[in-house]
Amino acid sequence: MLLEVKGASVAYNKVVAMRQVSMQVPEGGIVTIIGANGAGKTSTLRAISGLVRLFAGEIHFGGRRIDGLPPEKIVAAGIAHVPEGRRVFPQMTVEENLRTGAFLRRDRQEIETDLEKVFARFPRLKERRRQLASTMSGGEQQMLAIGRALMAKPRLLLLDEPSMGLAPVIVEEIARIIKEIAAGGVPVILVEQNAELALSLADYAYVLETGNLALEGRASELHENEHVRRAYLGI
Ligand code: ATP
Repeated sequence: MLLEVKGASVAYNKVVAMRQVSMQVPEGGIVTIIGANGAGKTSTLRAISGLVRLFAGEIHFGGRRIDGLPPEKIVAAGIAHVPEGRRVFPQMTVEENLRTGAFLRRDRQEIETDLEKVFARFPRLKERRRQLASTMSGGEQQMLAIGRALMAKPRLLLLDEPSMGLAPVIVEEIARIIKEIAAGGVPVILVEQNAELALSLADYAYVLETGNLALEGRASELHENEHVRRAYLGI
């Protein structure tokens, strides 16, 4: 397994947001975490990235224990996180935003190659490379945030609610890109409130309910699960 979360627990001022959560992410494919508002999905990603501390449990990445490491060490180890709400740097251009993703890298030549790869994957970013990020649409900013994460040359990509607030046609485009990234060899953990989308993209899924792992299984199987259908798919 590339990533192993073992009995991870997180609290904010004594309010427990994640209780004894265990997850495994293999070397390839898409794993999704679904759940209602406040179920602990974002906290799980933040725990993996080192943005919040565990009060119990462990996280191992590539055979190495990473919980307790500072976030920049976790980025350097190969985990890139695209946060909820994208958070691109509004007063920087598209290209400058992309280059910040590579700030820990020293392989100058390869950075240029990867920048061209990102532009090839997102032609719209190439057309707008000199444009300020603040002037981009929501979908373009989401693409920029994903492109910036790819510039870190990650071994694992964490995506928090990439579909949020986007028009259906843009969501479809983002979905296609997520599939391409995983098929290209970078495994993805996808957090989504849009369970239909998440289960259609993912290979494996975890369901969080008020900080607890309620269910897990192959995404195609969870899609047929009675509880999942009633609680998350509105069927
Ligand atoms: P959402 O989709 O709304 O982001 P989520 O499933 O990602 O929900 P989390 O954001 O992980 O859930 O939140 C889990 C719980 O922790 C919630 O009860 C939330 O109110 C609480 N929580 C999250 N962040 C903080 C914080 N910084 N301080 C205090 N409580 C927090």
